[in-house]
Amino acid sequence: MKPTNTLLAAQQTTIFTVMSALAAEHHAINLGQGFPDTEGPAEVVRAAAEALLDGRNQYAPLAGLPELRQAVAAVNQRFYGLKVDPDSEVVVTSGGTEALGCALAGLLDPGDEVVLFEPLYDTYLPVIRLLGAVPRLVRLEPPGWDIPREALAAAFSPRTKALLINTPMNPTGKVFTAEELDFIAGLLVRHDAYAICDEVYEYLTYDNHRHVPLITRPGMRERCIRISSAGKTFSLTGWKVGYVTAAAPLAAAVMKAHQNLLFATPQNLQRAVAQGLMMPDSYYAGLAAKMQAGRDRLAAGLARAGFAVLPCHGSYFLDADFRPLGFTGDDVAFCRVMTAEAGVTAIPVSAFYEGEAPRHYARFAFCKRPEVLDEACARLARRFGRG
Ligand code: PMP
Ligand code: GLN
Repeated sequence: MKPTNTLLAAQQTTIFTVMSALAAEHHAINLGQGFPDTEGPAEVVRAAAEALLDGRNQYAPLAGLPELRQAVAAVNQRFYGLKVDPDSEVVVTSGGTEALGCALAGLLDPGDEVVLFEPLYDTYLPVIRLLGAVPRLVRLEPPGWDIPREALAAAFSPRTKALLINTPMNPTGKVFTAEELDFIAGLLVRHDAYAICDEVYEYLTYDNHRHVPLITRPGMRERCIRISSAGKTFSLTGWKVGYVTAAAPLAAAVMKAHQNLLFATPQNLQRAVAQGLMMPDSYYAGLAAKMQAGRDRLAAGLARAGFAVLPCHGSYFLDADFRPLGFTGDDVAFCRVMTAEAGVTAIPVSAFYEGEAPRHYARFAFCKRPEVLDEACARLARRFGRG
């Protein structure tokens, strides 16, 4: 028999699935795969349930329900002062993942280059390569994850079609500043390139850090495909409703890919997300405050157990160096031992790198109930604590 697609055949099962299975096998507390352990807002869930009984069971329009596109335009205006035409500049997708795939497919021809920051989310490179495009990786270094500006500039070439940026960033918790984004914007203009902006954690920023969408920076309105996800915004990761905001020609390119890969996202979920997005500012502030409290609780507990915890300004995730515990193996070994012997699961950070990678960090999700985070920390202190 002829082989199936060689790129996909060579790929491992995603680390999130592998570690969740290991957590289940050991009945461990799963701080690996990033999903909240509480339901999203009851009124949003109810709206989805009611929509099923209300004739919302046939195909939705290709671009998404008008009410959701209007809601996406409204939040762009409310939070970022961005004026968006809901009819031509918004596309609803099945999750940030589909939006990313459609943005890449909509932009890239074989041989085009894409600049990305490493560490990076695990779906980016396989999709770029399936399209025959060529990734150019620029590595960010802990603890600050600052942009190496010369290396970034050097990664651009006449073949650069796009840059893919994730802010707030998984797994680093970095939130790119306006000043950093303006440096990137300068390169995009100089090289006539687009940006795909993975902003699924846009509302999850902490302390005095604020999310700035690249599309709002000077010269960027026509060059950016901005992606967000209801999964993170409403703690409903299983819903897989995403939305794209982009200038009309770019939105049209994304929609062409969407038409071929999926066509339409379930209507009932779209209606509920439209309702959710219209919730008052207090909802969004409350979500960030709750996540920030989880971050602080977990960071303190990990530090008590002996980890060296890196700063985190956004997202669901904290990275922690386990070398101070005296563990001498790599991060994959550590996450396995921690799951089996402490009953706590995390993700080895090397999974977010291609090739050579730091091998002494574990990524912990803090989007969990306080008592769950406390129990995880107690287990870690019992197994690894030095005192
Ligand atoms: N991008 C990043 C950086 C993520 O962490 C995730 C995690 N779910 C996604 C995209 C995918 O979002 P969705 O679940 O909406 O497909
Ligand atoms: N985005 C989630 C994470 O980083 C995982 C999503 C998935 O499992 N596909 O943990």
